[in-house]
Amino acid sequence: MAIERTLSIIKPDAVAKNVIGQIYSRFETAGLKIVAARMVQLSRAEAEGFYAVHSARPFFNDLVTFMISGPVMVSALEGDNAVLAHRDLMGATDPKKAEKGTIRADFADSIDANAVHGSDAVEAAAIEIAYFFPALSVYSR
Ligand code: UDP
Repeated sequence: MAIERTLSIIKPDAVAKNVIGQIYSRFETAGLKIVAARMVQLSRAEAEGFYAVHSARPFFNDLVTFMISGPVMVSALEGDNAVLAHRDLMGATDPKKAEKGTIRADFADSIDANAVHGSDAVEAAAIEIAYFFPALSVYSR
């Protein structure tokens, strides 16, 4: 098994629902360790920069507006196959299609207010973690 890191964002809808702890608990139960964490109120420019890969998509402006609607909880997670393990915990992008027992099935309201973000590949994870955390603020443990 490869030890990987991935970026998790608990989005404004889930922060507003006060379920940060319940989501962290799922990470920990699955063997993922939180190795960096901060709560952030993103500026529009910061959210646009984070989602730059989606800038041509029709939902881009609505996504950015949603992501700056309140604070988000950003974490780096570490563990065996962390990228895929985290994506499995999250469930499908559209909560209506997400498997029972996944974070999105349990906490998300819609495809745009869908509770969590997770990196989709190891390379993307490295870029996304560096977007929020200086290297010395990510702790292997
Ligand atoms: N999104 C949206 N409408 C769509 C598709 C995506 O609002 O039709 C948003 C949604 O918040 C999603 C994010 O854009 O989480 C990034 O989309 P992606 O396809 O990368 O999904 P994810 O990796 O988050 O499951």
